[in-house]
Amino acid sequence: MKMKSIIRKTLLYKSGVEYADYCINHVEGCAHGCRFPCYAMMMKKRCGIIKSYKEWLQPKIVANALELLDKEIPRYKHKIKFVHLCFSTDPFMYKYPEVGDLTLKIIERLNKDNIRCVVLTKGIYAKVLVNTARYGKNNEYGITLVSLDDNFKQKIEPYSAPYKERIKSLEYLHKKGLKTWISMEPYPTPNLVRQDLMHILKTVSFVDKIIFGKLNYNTPSNQFKGNDKFYMNCADIVIHFCKNNRIEYHIKHGTQEKDNRKTEKIFIKSFVEDLSLRIKQPSLFN
Ligand code: SF4
Repeated sequence: MKMKSIIRKTLLYKSGVEYADYCINHVEGCAHGCRFPCYAMMMKKRCGIIKSYKEWLQPKIVANALELLDKEIPRYKHKIKFVHLCFSTDPFMYKYPEVGDLTLKIIERLNKDNIRCVVLTKGIYAKVLVNTARYGKNNEYGITLVSLDDNFKQKIEPYSAPYKERIKSLEYLHKKGLKTWISMEPYPTPNLVRQDLMHILKTVSFVDKIIFGKLNYNTPSNQFKGNDKFYMNCADIVIHFCKNNRIEYHIKHGTQEKDNRKTEKIFIKSFVEDLSLRIKQPSLFN
């Protein structure tokens, strides 16, 4: 069945997320239906854009996304450090090939102007991304992974891709030489799932970067006795593991007693290189 679509007035926006820069959400809603809860769904409900969880589960594609990009790229190009896809939907939504197809076109369009993409999904990556003549080689591809327990996944993110398939698709990109990362956020407290953080970390030790963060807006988790101590201990484990395995890391603000402002620039490092490349060489792909 063909997805519903909407028309938007703008697409690129400056994100408020501490480690992000510009962002694109080219779909309204998300079929993954996360019950952490999903912050994006909460906001859309609050603003009256959607009425219910059921409505959120029926994603609508932004039909004019590529036309908007053609207009907005020349306007923002020299300010953009990188573009994040996505914070309020999923760019490789599981079992929604139309979403993945549009995402690929967006990545290609941005890369054509030497704008790097930082991508995050709970779906499966398209293998075609290894074609670096088409998509560029400096994008960073991530998956959200907060557990390896399938029963927990069924409860908390019922319609996303199975953990194993998700990891396999990320490892494929890694093996082909692309940069990969993990968003381990929102990480659940032990009253939601009993698990070994070190085991999860070891499973994805091939990645270049890990971002770890606590679970917010979840009553049972907030009521977990020793919540603060638990997250501080987890953050220490992640930092130690990353240092030992030469993985870059960032602990999301509010997870530790004291926030680390330096590591929030985890995706920015190559901005100066990117910018000089964009000025000297308007397009690598023409
Ligand atoms: S994948 Fe992201 S946007 Fe989609 S429902 Fe889950 S938390 Fe929300």
